[in-house]
Amino acid sequence: VSGAEAPFRTERVIGHESVLLGLKRASREGRLPHALLLRGPRGIGKFLLALHFARWLLCAADEQDPCNRCGPCKRTASLSHPDLFVIDPVSEELETIPIARVAAREAEVESAEAFFSHRPGEGGWRIAIVREMERAQEAVQNALLKMLEEPSPGCLWMLECSQPELLLPTIHSRCVAIHLSALDAPDARKVLEAAGIPSQRASELLRWTPSPGQALLLDAQNGPGMRALIDAVARGAMAPLEAAAAVFELEGQFEGSTPSARSRERARTAVSLVLALLADGLRLAAGVSREDLAHGDLLGWGAPLSEAPWRRALRTCMRAREDIERNLSPEACTERALLAVASLAGRGAALAR
Ligand SMILES: [Zn+2]
Repeated sequence: VSGAEAPFRTERVIGHESVLLGLKRASREGRLPHALLLRGPRGIGKFLLALHFARWLLCAADEQDPCNRCGPCKRTASLSHPDLFVIDPVSEELETIPIARVAAREAEVESAEAFFSHRPGEGGWRIAIVREMERAQEAVQNALLKMLEEPSPGCLWMLECSQPELLLPTIHSRCVAIHLSALDAPDARKVLEAAGIPSQRASELLRWTPSPGQALLLDAQNGPGMRALIDAVARGAMAPLEAAAAVFELEGQFEGSTPSARSRERARTAVSLVLALLADGLRLAAGVSREDLAHGDLLGWGAPLSEAPWRRALRTCMRAREDIERNLSPEACTERALLAVASLAGRGAALAR
């Protein structure tokens, strides 16, 4: 278990109260389905909710929340409970979920199949959670489907997913879908505060995304540092080439098993931030006032431009974003996005004079 999530595993869930209450009631009334698909936007706590609910089911005390004192609670907190199996490709840094984690293929890899073939270690529920189920490719989904089709009593699957369109229809039909909505702004802020993010930085992060998980990721990836570089390009204080190089010098944590995967992830973040800025520029051209835009403060030069140049720049930038996936140089793709900003800013500033 690595990274920013670890301290949250034993924290209470922020938001989603009615969903949790509903699940707990269903369990008390003996009508919990054997497979749940927790769907909703990325980074709103679906996986944490699944962990929390699993911990509650396995807790020896009968309380509103996991008691955090009993033996099962201590074991679920350290993910060492014999009746809890978690596939977490995010913490495990896996771009896709390997089939060996689902079907018993390799003796040394813990699989869901082997997990469910054992009798309950502590006599109650046996629970498997898959985080970001969309990282399972078709063969892996089919292997999982076999197990969903033959549920044994006391077994519970919780599949967490923010791109349900990537799941096979047969997976959907075997699961009861539970939709989780985005958190409201005060709850999102609470999550960031609980993670120790200072208030001003929290505000800055949350203007990019209402999702606290995405905001925490952006924090780890030094989104604010990248934004300062984009701002420098927009103000003409830095050349795009220089700023692109600086993006790759910034401190930050980027997911990926190899240096080039991490570079691609870094470029994705930088280009996505440029896209967010350009999208705001288009809104500005359409008449939205700067005060109402997440990046209005960076768009001082943008007001004289019509919609067409923003659209062109957005297209350029989207192509750069796609080219990152085509394995073109991440540095070059980042530079193209920043060049689009520089040329727009130059035009905007010239029109304003
Ligand atoms: Zn407990």
